[in-house]
Amino acid sequence: MEHNYFKNDPLSQFYNLNKLDSVILTCDVDWAPEYAIESVINLIAKYGFKINIFATHKSEVLLKKHEHVNIGLHPDFTRPSQKDWFDKKILNLKEIYPNSKGMRSHRNFFGQNIGDLAHQAGLKYDVSFFLWNEPYCQAHLDYNGMVRFSYFWEDGIHLDLGKSFDVSSINLESPGLKILNIHPILFYLNSDTEDHRRAVTSQYSDLTIAPKLEIDNEINRGYGIQNFYKEILNYLKTKNVKTYFLEELTDIKLNSKLLTQKMSLGI
Ligand SMILES: [Zn+2]
Repeated sequence: MEHNYFKNDPLSQFYNLNKLDSVILTCDVDWAPEYAIESVINLIAKYGFKINIFATHKSEVLLKKHEHVNIGLHPDFTRPSQKDWFDKKILNLKEIYPNSKGMRSHRNFFGQNIGDLAHQAGLKYDVSFFLWNEPYCQAHLDYNGMVRFSYFWEDGIHLDLGKSFDVSSINLESPGLKILNIHPILFYLNSDTEDHRRAVTSQYSDLTIAPKLEIDNEINRGYGIQNFYKEILNYLKTKNVKTYFLEELTDIKLNSKLLTQKMSLGI
């Protein structure tokens, strides 16, 4: 009955109101080396899924066209700089990935000023809002015209909270948008704790060029987050779940707003 509340929301078809059928996969690059980014892209292709990847820097792998990958921006506003103020951080990334239509801030650092700057830079959506394991995550149209998505699961937080590596520990079977986020370096290292990942990444002042042989030596050979993420993807596959680009949902939301405006104007 409560599903009636969503009947006017054009995105309710993605809210899994009756059963789990739609999931959105995302990935925050966080300055991962090329081979780590590539390992995520290849895995998702193997499953026939789509993924939204939020870029932190210029990556040749991400600049290549992959049908199942949609690129957004992952600006870092946590390190203030005199010359690269908020707007520059968005614009610099937009210059590298001019077709990107959305963003997620590094560490979810987001406020009205950033939303306005993102909108001015031509972005249409943001997915910086995190509601850990909450049901009923949705998308809403912000005052400035940006579509704002809430996401509900992330690899590092799963480890930090000491959650078990059991798909049932993720709130997948409740209604709501199911946006799941991973990080290539954590995935590549197959870490079983964030401390494992930190001990490795803190050795590099520029992680993007960390030599593959060195990183390969640090891969956790026991059960880790990569094994768990594959279990999640297997679960989605057996349930016949479909995956989407956030840009697709954004267009549906914005087009329906246009349609409503036209109808109220009688055109
Ligand atoms: Zn990040």
